[in-house]
Amino acid sequence: MFKKSYLTVKFSIGVGIITFSLFLYFVIIAFSPFLKTSSLFHRNIIGAYISFFIPMNIISWLTLGQIGGVLILVFSCFSIIFIVLKYGILYYNIYILFFGISSFIGYRLFLNMVSSKHQSLATLEALEVDKNILFSTLSQRQNEIDASKKRAQRYVALKGITEDLSSTLDLEHMATMIVEKAFNIIGRSDRGLLFLIDEEKQELELCASKQTERLPVVKAKKGEMFDTWILKQRKSLIIEDMDNDFRFAPEALGDPKDREFKSVIGAPVISRMKVIGVLRMDAKKKCVYTQDDLRLLNIISDLAAACIENSRLYKRTNELAITDGLTGLYVQRYFKERLSIELKRALSSKKKFSILMIDLDYFKECNDKYGHAAGDVLLVKIAEVLKAGVGEGHVVSRYGGEEFAIFLFGLDKKEAIRISEDLKKAVEGTVFKLRRDEVKVTISIGISSFPDDGCAAEPLLKKADENLYKAKQDGRNRVWPNSI
Ligand code: GH3
Ligand code: MG
Ligand code: MG
Repeated sequence: MFKKSYLTVKFSIGVGIITFSLFLYFVIIAFSPFLKTSSLFHRNIIGAYISFFIPMNIISWLTLGQIGGVLILVFSCFSIIFIVLKYGILYYNIYILFFGISSFIGYRLFLNMVSSKHQSLATLEALEVDKNILFSTLSQRQNEIDASKKRAQRYVALKGITEDLSSTLDLEHMATMIVEKAFNIIGRSDRGLLFLIDEEKQELELCASKQTERLPVVKAKKGEMFDTWILKQRKSLIIEDMDNDFRFAPEALGDPKDREFKSVIGAPVISRMKVIGVLRMDAKKKCVYTQDDLRLLNIISDLAAACIENSRLYKRTNELAITDGLTGLYVQRYFKERLSIELKRALSSKKKFSILMIDLDYFKECNDKYGHAAGDVLLVKIAEVLKAGVGEGHVVSRYGGEEFAIFLFGLDKKEAIRISEDLKKAVEGTVFKLRRDEVKVTISIGISSFPDDGCAAEPLLKKADENLYKAKQDGRNRVWPNSI
């Protein structure tokens, strides 16, 4: 801006000088008829006019450069020649020398100006380079600060995850929390998924998901090829563009038009050297995730693995506390707890239920004949028959040594008798192999029902016990009561 206005002023001065020179020249020509060359006064006027060309020569070099300088020199020399020829004042030729000298001075000044200009330009360029370096360093530092801030925010969020995850032991709740936190911390995703391996089926199963509302529900509940890849390779995975990833054949990924996501990031959930699941984020846009995101996802999946393992251990410990070590059935304490809980429910909902007390007939003889260990095996097998006979949804427990108690939800006495008869027949009809013998055993069952036999735990248990005693008294291999 400043440079531009400086050049304009310089150019204007130059043009002004040329105009002024022309003006001087024409003034001389215009007044020449009136001038008397013999008059000293007139000669001095001409001389004064001509003298103006001396500074003009210098200024024209400085304002208009080479062209201007040479032009004014030539022009002023012509003026002298004209005057000398017109008036015959020969000694005016000396002015040519003055013009030459002044033009030379102008030329030298012009050269100085140009070189100092070049120097200034070089300094300016160096300054410009310094400025650019400074700006790029500044923006680099700013980027580093931003990245550090982002990293700090992420680590604070990670700390939050650790606290939140340790607040629950419920696996389902925990899985939802893991996906939500990963989804929010990584950001820019359209979908987040957590798959865990089903121990029995040995395959992935979707445990929790989070996605932007517009998307349809997750179809691949057992994972996609990316999850299998992560599972097999035991490595985290980052896909920048699903349409151009050399690890996955395009035909295996299906029609590109149907592919909702272009970017994928996934990490294995590894606990005690074993892959127990896959944590994955998907995004619709290409090149969404960075290596930094992958590192973060790995940390989250490690945290998730520790918490999931913790929750599973807790569940297992709880199960161990309520299940019998030999038969796998519930223990008496659990049966009684459930009885009191279900009683409260039944009292308000008026729903019926029944209790079966079961005792093996002449079990002592079996123990004596085949040994205690064989007796244990028989107990395990009887437990299996009872569980299978009752079916899902009821509580089968080992009440004592060779006594079992069953809680039948929503079944009245009539239905309880029918089921008891079936159980009795099932046990009676099963051949158990003890050592090399084929053995048959029977059971006796006592029944009590809510609300017919009582509305509290004690009388109901007592009634079932009494009925069991009656079944035994009646000759064993009996259900009591056997009709209503
Ligand atoms: P019944 O019930 O028909 O009157 O005769 P029983 O021989 O079955 O008599 P009872 O019900 O009193 O049986 C108790 C026996 O069960 C005593 C013990 O030898 C056996 N028993 C109890 N608990 C266990 C156990 O955990 N394992 C084994 N092998 N035997 C057990
Ligand atoms: Mg007994
Ligand atoms: Mg018995």
